[in-house]
Amino acid sequence: MSVLQSLVSGLRGGGIEVVDLTAPLSSETPILKLPEPFADTATFSLEEISRYDDRGPAWYWNNIHTGEHTGTHLDAPVHWVTAKEGEDVSQIATTRLVAPAAVLDVSERVAADPDFLLKISDLEAWQAEHGPLPEGGWLFIRTGWDARSDSQEAFLNANETGPHTPGVSVEAARWLADEAPIIGVGVETVGTDAGKAHAFEPPFPCHTYVLGAGKYGLTQLQNLRLLPPTGAVVIAAPLPIVGGSGSPTRVLALVER
Ligand code: MN
Repeated sequence: MSVLQSLVSGLRGGGIEVVDLTAPLSSETPILKLPEPFADTATFSLEEISRYDDRGPAWYWNNIHTGEHTGTHLDAPVHWVTAKEGEDVSQIATTRLVAPAAVLDVSERVAADPDFLLKISDLEAWQAEHGPLPEGGWLFIRTGWDARSDSQEAFLNANETGPHTPGVSVEAARWLADEAPIIGVGVETVGTDAGKAHAFEPPFPCHTYVLGAGKYGLTQLQNLRLLPPTGAVVIAAPLPIVGGSGSPTRVLALVER
């Protein structure tokens, strides 16, 4: 059997499960809220063109309104000032859109501390148990935050001191950018940086270093709890928006059961 025939047979009841890591896209999908004076991304919405009516008697269709960074989405390098000359989302090699993923689970610690920051020592401990991070693959950080994704308020978890969501320390962000063989970092929160990362030095270190190194971000992932620590293969399919800084993305994981 060829490799692709084996894959098809695995998908048809032969032990390969397809796990959807994508948040449903609707006007209820939580979005990032930046403080004044910064501009925000659009909420997703549908604008009806026709629905089997005078405007189109046999057909239903919509225009969509969305930000590039609305819902489950991919951050391209050019999104950040540290990669101004970097790839836009249409330029990402298709070979990088199908890649292995490692999953690091910190959900118990995040439950105890929503401001949890991943450290280099956490990455080293994971590697000691599971082996090196995948060459040309993703690191997905499982925080359990997807359980909050049906509520904008719970998802952003903000109070008078700002948003409180987990992320990556400055040192770990630099390590993931410069030392790790990965192509990017995936998270369940609204962005790859912590809620309080605006006050870090540098601000938003995951964006600064990881995108600055020509790597990618994937955000608002769901169902990471269904993935093994190693062995999943991820298909991340952003729209090839020419000149785009990112795109809503369908993210699927193939998992052997
Ligand atoms: Mn983004």
